[in-house]
Amino acid sequence: MDLLERGPLDLHRNLTAVNRLTRPARTVPNQLGDPDVWRISSPLEDSPSRNFSHVTDSWTRWKRYRTCFVAILIVVFRRPKTTERGQVLIFDEIVIGAGLTALGAVLGLPANRRVLVIGGPIAGQFVHYDGAKTKVSAYLGHGGLGTYWHGAIATGGQQYFAGASAEYFDRLVRRFYPNTQISERLGKPWLFVPWRPIRPKEEWRRMKAERSDRLVFVHEVVSRFVAGDRDVSVHTAGSTFVGKRLWVCAGALHSPALLDDSLAAPVSRQFVSDHVFCYLGQIDRARTHVEMPRVLRTRDGVWFEGRYDDERRARYTLRPARFAFTRLDYGIERRGIFGPPTGKSIAKIVRSISLGLFAEALYNHFGLFPNARVQSVYALINVPDAHSFHSSDAQLSARRDVIQTFVDAVRANPPWRGIQTSIRPDIFIPSTHLHHSVDVGALVGAGVNGPTSRVQVVDASVLRDVGPDHHTFKLMVAAFHRAQALCQSE
Ligand SMILES: Cc1cc2nc3c(=O)[nH]c(=O)nc-3n(C[C@H](O)[C@H](O)[C@H](O)COP(=O)(O)OP(=O)(O)OC[C@H]3O[C@@H](n4cnc5c(N)ncnc54)[C@H](O)[C@@H]3O)c2cc1C
Repeated sequence: MDLLERGPLDLHRNLTAVNRLTRPARTVPNQLGDPDVWRISSPLEDSPSRNFSHVTDSWTRWKRYRTCFVAILIVVFRRPKTTERGQVLIFDEIVIGAGLTALGAVLGLPANRRVLVIGGPIAGQFVHYDGAKTKVSAYLGHGGLGTYWHGAIATGGQQYFAGASAEYFDRLVRRFYPNTQISERLGKPWLFVPWRPIRPKEEWRRMKAERSDRLVFVHEVVSRFVAGDRDVSVHTAGSTFVGKRLWVCAGALHSPALLDDSLAAPVSRQFVSDHVFCYLGQIDRARTHVEMPRVLRTRDGVWFEGRYDDERRARYTLRPARFAFTRLDYGIERRGIFGPPTGKSIAKIVRSISLGLFAEALYNHFGLFPNARVQSVYALINVPDAHSFHSSDAQLSARRDVIQTFVDAVRANPPWRGIQTSIRPDIFIPSTHLHHSVDVGALVGAGVNGPTSRVQVVDASVLRDVGPDHHTFKLMVAAFHRAQALCQSE
């Protein structure tokens, strides 16, 4: 039975086993934990000779008491809170988050490290873009948003994951899609939509089988962490965990509050950047002779060729418009409802299912029947600071004027001639490609993310610009690379 499926008692046994099996024997009498981390000098170490005069004896006694007193103070103030059973749990690496970024980071850590993944509550909680709750912006729970994502991997766009070479990209792709050759498409505007998206929960199970007791999961919410010179302690409501290094992968909306509550000065931003998805209109291929972009089906998924504008703000896509979708704007009005399958939106999808939508879905997922005479023209647009943001409750509020300015600029310069232009420029759909929610300069100033820093933040909160492409897999590659590079340099 997998650890994830066990009750708290089994988890406790497992954690105990990890500590017993993997820590060197130690002699610290007060059970403070790893001697490297919690070493306290013995009172006898400071004792002077016992053959001195009466005065010297008193002084010696005082010194001994003083040392004991200091030791007690250290025990009281430095001793981390323990689990219910009075244990301090010590790991090499602690990871906050159990989504796709965390997966990338842990894959980059050597298999012999003791790794703890703290992934949020068992019963997950959605956060939504707005009060209507039709579109999810974040998920607090095991697997994160990776439980719902479409799995699309972009190979083009800017290389903001620089440092992670093509080789790393290729290696990570092959772990999940062994038959897929990605290197020849890197830097070119292709999008790979796999038959089976990477699902973190499945991958964690696979990695658990590979790493056994070296990889431990707990389903708790971290309230804060404290980074010291030699270790980091991570606090949840009931436990404290100590690690040599901490990887923050709590997602673009949850990392900022965690960092604010843990660092000396706030680092969260008031805005968050995102992609918006919008409809430019439609194109009649019989009239305009526009060529369809290439679509290639492989054993692992489908490749779609894309197109960028000159400024690389937008990625354009043509999709076959059939049935009611041949009516201008009909499709975008229907698509606005989509998000992960929360109860509300499932009901809406079922109510609004249409043949036009079905035909487009066949194309989007399987690359089938691309050659419709009428094509819908969509654009994925990069909008810096698209939303106002409150880190304390992870709430967003769309800055419609800012978004509209970017959308209008893209709409004004479509890459194809002869587009029948949308008359619903007010509709745009957030893509849950949220990023840049943390002030990177302030974070570095706080001693985070340096080559020897105890705390590494590797999720999208620290990405300033993701270009117009799906960014998540690149983020995984970057986390994978950082974890491997830091461990190799030690
Ligand atoms: C419907 C949908 C489709 C998408 N499709 C694509 C796509 O095709 N391609 C693409 O590139 N992107 C896509 N995305 C975006 C993609 O899902 C996200 O970019 C990605 O999942 C983010 O992963 P993450 O691990 O950084 O964060 P998250 O998935 O948000 O995971 C954060 C993790 O941290 C944990 N956590 C947070 N706070 C705490 C705390 N205080 N204590 C403990 N744990 C905590 C959470 O429980 C969670 O496990 C899509 C998103 C959605 C919603």
